[in-house]
This record gives sequence, C-alpha cells and structure tokens, in this order.
Amino acid sequence: MLINFDAGPAALPKEVLQQASASIVEYNNSGLSILEIPHRGKLFEEILAEANSLVRELLELDSDYEVLWLQGGGRLQFSMVPMNFLAPEATAGYIDSGHWASEALRNARLYGDTLILGSSRADKYTYIPEWEHIPAHLAYVHFTSNNTIYGTQFFGFPHTEVPLVADMSSELFSRRLDYSRFSLIYAVAQKNIGPAGVTLVVIRRSMLDRQKRVLPGILSYKDIAASNSVLNTPPVFAIYCSLLTLRWIKAAGMEAMERRNREKARLLYEAIDRSSVFYGVARPAHRSLMNACFRAHDERHTQAFLDFARERNITGIKGHRSVGGFRASLYNAIGIGEVEQLVQAMADFEAGL
Ligand code: PMP
Repeated sequence: MLINFDAGPAALPKEVLQQASASIVEYNNSGLSILEIPHRGKLFEEILAEANSLVRELLELDSDYEVLWLQGGGRLQFSMVPMNFLAPEATAGYIDSGHWASEALRNARLYGDTLILGSSRADKYTYIPEWEHIPAHLAYVHFTSNNTIYGTQFFGFPHTEVPLVADMSSELFSRRLDYSRFSLIYAVAQKNIGPAGVTLVVIRRSMLDRQKRVLPGILSYKDIAASNSVLNTPPVFAIYCSLLTLRWIKAAGMEAMERRNREKARLLYEAIDRSSVFYGVARPAHRSLMNACFRAHDERHTQAFLDFARERNITGIKGHRSVGGFRASLYNAIGIGEVEQLVQAMADFEAGL
C-alpha cells in the first residue's frame, strides 16, 4: 500500500477499512450488508446513537449540543450557515484566512451583509490574520480554523458573546480544545473522519430557534435536528465508517491523538527548516499541525521530488493546484513512522543532488 498524505479524501486507519470491508459483505451477523440496512431501522438507529454520543464525548460537549450528519459537503455549509442565521438586514463577520474562508464569505453575501474582520489575502494567506474588535450586533462570526490549502491554523479564538461558527473540516478530532466556545462547528468527513459524502455538524441547541427565513426542511438545521438526521435517506455507509473512526480515536484517546499529531508536525517542520532544498510557506507561529505546506527553492526540484517520493510509495504530497509546491497532510490516520519515511525521503533526495 502507498503512504497517502493527500488532503482529502485522505488516509483512513487500516482497522477502519478492514471493519468497513467486512461489513459490506455482512453487517454484524445481521444477514444484510451495511449497504442494505434500512435507514429507519434499529441497526442504523444504534449506529447513529453511538456516533452522536462519541462526537459529544470526544469534543467534551454536553447535551446542549445537537450532532447532525448532512450531505452537500463543506460547500453546502457555506450557504446553509447564512441561509439559516443571517437575515437580509443583518451582518455576519468573516475572517478571510484562505480560499475556503473566502468562499464561505462569498456565499454569505447572497443572504445578508458581511463584515471582514481580518484578511491575509494580500499576503497569499501565509498567516492567520489578526481580527478587529467584534461588534456585538453581528449575527455570528465565521472562520476556517485550519486552512487546508495554505497550511495555517488558528491557535487562539475570538473572545466574544457573538456566536462563533467554525469550519473545522481539516482538523476536527485532531486536538483538544474548549469546543463549547463554538455555537456551530462543521467538518466534512473526508479528511479526519470517514469517506466523502457526509458532513458533521455540531450545533448548540439554542441556535436552532434562530432560523431567519422559511427554508425547505433539508436546508434547515432545525428540521434536520428534529428528524435526528434522518429527514431523507442519509449516507448510511459514510456515517458507519465515521463511527468506526470515532471508536478508533476513542481507543487512542484525544490527548494521545493530539500528542502524536504534534510530534508528526514537529518531525516534518524540523526537516523542512534544516533543509537547503525545501522551505516552509506559512508563518511558523501559524503552521498547521494537519497540513504542512512547503516548496523547493529551485522549481526544477518540485516534479523531481514528487517522482522520487513516489518511488518510495509516498503519494498525495503535491500542493493544491492554486499554490503549487508540496503539502503533506498529517491527519489522525497518518502514523509517526510514515512521517519519518517522508522525512527520510527528503534527506535522501537532498543528499543525491
Ligand atoms: N472547508 C475546508 C477547510 C476544506 O478543506 C474543504 C475541502 N478541501 C471544504 C471546506 C470543501 O469541502 P467539500 O469539497 O466537501 O465541499
């Protein structure tokens, strides 16, 4: 098998893939494949209940929060958040820390006014911008806590009474945080949670009553919560795989997961910093623990290193097409040994020049 550093769809733990494969043939001696079980039956009810309770447990959230499983990816959340919570005459704050953050902002403008509280666009999103004072009248403040394309991450969050909404797609379950500071968190599954096709939303119950316009049920957090994520046929298999990953994270423990993620990032960034071939792109204080972005000083070394790494079974390290260079995604399923192999490949490539 290849070592997959792709930003998503990303590597999943081997145990998860093995259990998911076995369940495709037959789920838990039920006589049915996981792909065949009814979405309103007891088997799926149990899967959903366990997944929801693990999400709360791992994020240390109480029953004040609803856990929802939606479709439509991160993109739909960019619209659903303002559709639900931004009235036409109201204003929402956005922190423009990268491509996905600015896409979220662009979508919000379809529904109401927006205020950019900080932006690092002019510097190619190489750092997390500082944010201005947050006016109390804002409907919410939205930010992208980890910028997948640029390899930057928030290590502090605004202190405000205004509800905080965070796109945590490329980092959820990678570190311990006080998640109760957020009113809504969303994360696509295909990075740290499971296969593409499902998006996890964690929302404070009091937000559900703040819906600002009449919406079809499938676009309303309130209606989806009232149906316990089974308003229509949910992606049963994607949710099941997410449950398997959540169990795997629980078995390791969030603290251990975070320690391992910090160690992986340290190994890779140290290798980048001591190299004379490669250099890091993001401002060191804002370097993401999940997506490490780096480049070669000499452009000719970019394709050469991609090929060199591929010969060592390393894949998925090509930077996003909009920025080039390299990006190694160090999500939970990537082990320290795999990062060591990448670091070794970088050293050997450099030695062979
Ligand atoms: N938010 C972030 C932080 C992302 O990295 C991505 C995709 N890479 C998205 C949103 C968009 O997700 P999707 O493709 O599922 O719409």
